[in-house]
Amino acid sequence: MRNRSKRTTLIHGGIRRSQYGEVSEGLFLTQGFVYDSAEAAEARFKELGEDEFIYARYGNPTVRMFENRLSAVVGYEDGFACTSGMAAVTGALTALLKAGDRVVASRALFGSCLYVLEDVLARFGVEVELVDGTDNAAWSRALTPATTLVFLESISNPMLEVVDLAHVVEAAHAVGALVVVDDAMATPVYSYSAACGADLCVISTTKHVDGQGRLLGGMICGSKELIRGPIEAYMKHTGGAMNPFTAWVQLKSLDTLDLRVQAQATGALRIAQALEGHPRLSAVRYPLLPSHPQHEVAMRQGGAGGTVLAFEVKGGKAECFRMLNAFELFTISNNFADSKSIVTHPATTTHQRLPQEQKDVLGISDGAVRLSVGLEDPEDLIADLMQALDRI
Ligand SMILES: *Cc1c(COP(=O)(O)O)cnc(C)c1O
Repeated sequence: MRNRSKRTTLIHGGIRRSQYGEVSEGLFLTQGFVYDSAEAAEARFKELGEDEFIYARYGNPTVRMFENRLSAVVGYEDGFACTSGMAAVTGALTALLKAGDRVVASRALFGSCLYVLEDVLARFGVEVELVDGTDNAAWSRALTPATTLVFLESISNPMLEVVDLAHVVEAAHAVGALVVVDDAMATPVYSYSAACGADLCVISTTKHVDGQGRLLGGMICGSKELIRGPIEAYMKHTGGAMNPFTAWVQLKSLDTLDLRVQAQATGALRIAQALEGHPRLSAVRYPLLPSHPQHEVAMRQGGAGGTVLAFEVKGGKAECFRMLNAFELFTISNNFADSKSIVTHPATTTHQRLPQEQKDVLGISDGAVRLSVGLEDPEDLIADLMQALDRI
């Protein structure tokens, strides 16, 4: 048999059927499980079989289907589903780190990830060094033998910096450090974490997996040894497990994930090409544009561009706000990966509290705009962008 492609795994991976033989995946909305006898309960607590459960904080059949299917799609042996993307990030880091450890991370990080690294982990005696994630030499310099873990976003939010993941994994493994990749922007469809040898890949399933703006969720993917070892031990006792209803909704969303993400990514490239060179813009950023600073790395890493692009409006905040307020299709919001296209002004919303020096380093100027491309016809979106740019 040929190896199944992602599209097929998204439909069939990890399926479990009850005695009723249901076609659609069952929703087991139960916290607990009953045992046939006292001896059976004792045996289950002693050693848990593949298809046995004790308590929903530890595992649930619907959640397990979602874990098995999504982790197989991104190329890992197993996964642990969490209440949100941030529960997954925090869980992965705190499960693996202890006082005295050293973490090296890329500096272009989602605000909440930065908080966990710089405020939470620091409070527990973990040393964190931030580097320019696009500078291979900076990674090599920072990765001393004292380093225990590396954390990065494969494609950064909001300015779409692309990390040379194969280089970072090789350098990290050479000093014995584990690599944890946040793949929120890369999407599960285009994720190359497994191909590059990253130890864990963390996904905010709130984003493309749900894709329709409904439920928060997250997943930590990795080897069976890590997931059913330190990750599960930490997550099941600290209470970050995903609830079965969320798992069921997001499991059903996997049916269409590949089709949705491909359509959104195709739209993002088409829009980036249409915007490049527009007289009101000073820059357009999308990894698949040859003008992107890490274009060559992005092409080497499977041509993953994602569904989000960024651009810079000439002028600043006033010009941006006039454009934002003129949109008819793009909605002003701060999420991304939704089926509805979204426009965000990071400097005044998602990154409002970041000190100016950090905004400057990350390129989050007053003219910077992030577009999340949805499932509308890209030609309608381009028309909306052009009329909104004209209204500046
Ligand atoms: C959204 C996001 C998260 C957090 O995910 P939630 O599901 O909102 O908790 C983490 N990392 C990145 C890069 C994100 O974009």
